[in-house]
Amino acid sequence: MTRDRQPSASSTVPSIRATRQAIREGNDSLEQVVSRCLAAIAAGSDINAFITVFDEQALEAARRIDGQIRSGTAGPLAGAVIAVKDNIAVKDCLMTCGSRILHNFIPPYDATVISRLQEAGAVIIGKTNLDEFAMGSSSEHSASGAVKNPVAPGHVAGGSSGGSAAAVAAGYCHAALGSDTGGSIRQPAAFTGVFGLKPTYGRVSRFGLAAFASSLDQIGPLARSTEDLAAVLQVISGHDPLDGTSAQEPAPDFSASVASLNGKTIGIPAQYLGEGVQPEIAAAVDAAAEKARSSGAKVVSVDLPMTDYAIATYYLICTAEASSNLARYDGAHYGFRAEGVRSLEEMYTRSRSEGFGEEVKRRIMLGTYVLSAGYYDAYYRRAMKARSLIRRDFEQAFATCDLLLTPTTPTTAFRSGEKTTDPLAMYLSDIFTVSVNLAGLPAISFPYGRDDQGLPIGLQCIAPAFDEISLLRAARFFEQNG
Ligand code: GLN
Repeated sequence: MTRDRQPSASSTVPSIRATRQAIREGNDSLEQVVSRCLAAIAAGSDINAFITVFDEQALEAARRIDGQIRSGTAGPLAGAVIAVKDNIAVKDCLMTCGSRILHNFIPPYDATVISRLQEAGAVIIGKTNLDEFAMGSSSEHSASGAVKNPVAPGHVAGGSSGGSAAAVAAGYCHAALGSDTGGSIRQPAAFTGVFGLKPTYGRVSRFGLAAFASSLDQIGPLARSTEDLAAVLQVISGHDPLDGTSAQEPAPDFSASVASLNGKTIGIPAQYLGEGVQPEIAAAVDAAAEKARSSGAKVVSVDLPMTDYAIATYYLICTAEASSNLARYDGAHYGFRAEGVRSLEEMYTRSRSEGFGEEVKRRIMLGTYVLSAGYYDAYYRRAMKARSLIRRDFEQAFATCDLLLTPTTPTTAFRSGEKTTDPLAMYLSDIFTVSVNLAGLPAISFPYGRDDQGLPIGLQCIAPAFDEISLLRAARFFEQNG
């Protein structure tokens, strides 16, 4: 393992704070910053990080916010340039979810996270590429083509928020929003060497996020530093009456999270370091644990015995929910409709057959099967029981420690095309991330060194519900003590 804590690609933008400072002092303007971001996006078009770029719209917003920064009336995120995964609604702008079935869908409203970002003074620069409907681990299942990893040519950027991760890693923006149903923020963050945080279920409103698996989905930020990550999380967090599952829990001051692990007990789950974990990643966990220990943390081994069942449980529940959520794409309500149909049934069948890609169809079929009358008890009900036991595993672990430290992924970024024809291999790459969603917990992926090929390694910290502060403190500690 080699050490490299610098951003992996040359950055067009420094931190949000530094950008704002430069604008306030008259050394830069947000209009210039956004122009540089747009130029970088255009120059890196082979990365395919974006589905839609908001050129004019972003420049116009930048000019307005420049004025506010100079007059001292700007919001807390003024100066920030943010990219948004294309399954989150931005009013009057194309939202495809990486699917042919939504090739022409223009939402008439903003997601709550978008209105909050805009009110706080952030510029939204565009919509990022993703696996269709956020189903995948490599961002290769997109109607807009595969995303490439900007820090590792020939390798995937991870998924499903691969476009968001690539945009941040390549320095096209300060931060990006992703969605995480089973790892889709953390895994691409790990593969591209950036920070990614999956908040507690209910911490961030899902209003305006195209539903994949509603009991697991959560929007969260990706950024190149914990400071920028915390700044974005601050603005998007908090109760939203438009989302029935939104928590009442008020958001604490995330920026106040100092880098310290002193006095903390960190649990390392034995099941997360077994067979199949790339040796350099296991070594990175050891190195991080040693750093924590030498600065006053206690490191203990914990047990998460249900880990073996996590992938099966996750794929039963997420496909069941997806089969129901995706029923609305029927050729009548939204987007794509097959041409030349002669009956209502043919319209449904052909619009869905031609509009959805392979992976989405596989999941709709699997989900419909596990919910069907004859198999509901054998599969869906069992999966719900296993989900309770997975939640209990974490509760028991957190009785003896404050935080868990694990690899984010068993391997570093795999090669493009390596797993597209082998769904099971693709699914197994989520082994360390899915349990967190099943339990509704918050988790962060932070970069920690590189493997022998120079590919970024990501480690994960998991905390009890609503304790994102501890995640940010831990990640900040490792950011400073690589
Ligand atoms: N890779 C996982 C899946 O394919 C997770 C996806 C996600 O978090 N959106 O379902």
